[in-house]
Amino acid sequence: MAVQQNKVSKSRRNNRRAHDALVAGNPNECTNCGELKRPHHVCPSCGHYADREVVASVDEIELEEDAA
Ligand SMILES: [Zn+2]
Repeated sequence: MAVQQNKVSKSRRNNRRAHDALVAGNPNECTNCGELKRPHHVCPSCGHYADREVVASVDEIELEEDAA
């Protein structure tokens, strides 16, 4: 087992952890549906990106009756 050579003081430990805080996300409103979405990502609720649909949403795909 590796053993540290020197004790890390409370000050040095806490100074290291000063940068460990999580930052909150910065969501934008989708220009198509108004839902909150991550910037520079496809909207998860309507599949639009940059004012056009790039991913077909589930409710728009018509499933055939005998497919299942
Ligand atoms: Zn959307």
